[in-house]
Amino acid sequence: MRAIYNDTAPHMVLSKAAQIGGTTWAILRSLHACLTGLNVIYFFPTRTDVLEFSKSRVGPLLGENPFLSKLMTDTDTAGLKRIGDAHLYLRGMQSTVGMKSVPADMVVFDELDEAAPSAKAMALERLAHSNYKRVIELSNPSLPDYGIDQQYEKSDQRHWTLRCPSCGHWTALDKEFPVKLGQEVGIILPRPDGSFYRACPHCAAELDLAAGEWVADFPNRAIHGYRISQLFSAMVDPGEILSEYRTTRYADRFFNLKIGIPWADLERRLDIASVLALCAQSPRPESESGSCSMGVDTGKELHVVVLRPTEGDESKQAVAHVGAYHDFGELDGLLRKYHVYRCVIDGLPETHATREFAQRHRGTVYMNFFNEHQRGAPNWDTDKQIVQVNRTEALDASRAAVRERKLALPPASRLMEEFAAHLACDAKVLDEDAETGIKKYRYVRTGTNHYSLAFTYAWLAAREGTGWPSFAFLDFRPESSEEQEFRRLFSPSPFDMHQRW
Ligand SMILES: [Zn+2]
Repeated sequence: MRAIYNDTAPHMVLSKAAQIGGTTWAILRSLHACLTGLNVIYFFPTRTDVLEFSKSRVGPLLGENPFLSKLMTDTDTAGLKRIGDAHLYLRGMQSTVGMKSVPADMVVFDELDEAAPSAKAMALERLAHSNYKRVIELSNPSLPDYGIDQQYEKSDQRHWTLRCPSCGHWTALDKEFPVKLGQEVGIILPRPDGSFYRACPHCAAELDLAAGEWVADFPNRAIHGYRISQLFSAMVDPGEILSEYRTTRYADRFFNLKIGIPWADLERRLDIASVLALCAQSPRPESESGSCSMGVDTGKELHVVVLRPTEGDESKQAVAHVGAYHDFGELDGLLRKYHVYRCVIDGLPETHATREFAQRHRGTVYMNFFNEHQRGAPNWDTDKQIVQVNRTEALDASRAAVRERKLALPPASRLMEEFAAHLACDAKVLDEDAETGIKKYRYVRTGTNHYSLAFTYAWLAAREGTGWPSFAFLDFRPESSEEQEFRRLFSPSPFDMHQRW
């Protein structure tokens, strides 16, 4: 950590394993900036995280340090500390109220991968009027090219590199460790007494963790990026890492939290090539007719995907049309042109235009609300023109359509490449509730995904009344009739729920 403490680069990125002291460094760096007169905003993903962090980490650190406690003046709340002449703001990134209005010279993003990318962009605007514009980003990595990994990729990419005392070969342990489960680990070897040591991959001599230096892969880049792994933490027994590698059921958590690298496999995320592999060699005949289903993602533009059942295979759908539109009148035209029998559109944000569109096409158009508590088949409410579905299950279903080749695409084109890129941007991650230990899958958006959602809605419409896979709940079991009744009576109205990004 010494080199990281001494690094004065204005923009630093720490892609780190769990429990390696990154947050302590970031707090001390923030306090030091305050002492030099800079205003600092320290961001956590949520307000709850911030309050906990302020109470358990920042408060004691200030209170128990005689030098710092003397500099603390009267202002001392969970969200604001005055240190010398400057302020340390502690804020949650979810609250847009918390982020506006406060200018800063330095911003810190802790647990970056838990926060929405759009919230980070907004938070960076706090630096607009500063001459200093310092940025610190730190997080456990999650997915490749997302969050902290995306930032680390832009940095000079430093690795802690050890010189073998025996043969002189240089080794970065995090580069040598396998990136998949079930492989041979050459850098953790057993001693005769059954304990384990970190070994030189060339000569198997024991490596000295302190005999190393940070080596950058791209020394000329301005952002300084450090990857910190438990592989070179003196506090972690390498035998434990090896044992967990061999037994873990959750590869993502192992690689993210122990090794400190991002991880994803094709089960969790589609790749662009496998989507484009569904493109036809030649255009489908124009003469094709038959009723279609349609999905609409709303936003600045209206992204539309139209699906048509393929002849001969009931379970397979062909993409009949993909496009982006600006007004709902154009959607009316599409419904007519493609003889759409069912259309699903974003229920949120709630707008007049969406509701009027639904009301104009009663019996055809349904507004979708994702409902975390909805298990199994989607719930279609004909009266209210609403469909509720579990978000993870809906995205699982549309991804399964691609994986199982239940989807036919038109010949490859720029538009199909865009469609494929959007589909590849939704990636599934495993969340663990810190209090209950319950694990749940959730999709995160790693880039622009309009067509992915439009396709998911169109698939939902097309699959109405057919089988529905259920993967969202690891503890999935059918609800009892009492549970169903309870949920009917007490589950929130879809209009009360807000969509997670
Ligand atoms: Zn060696």
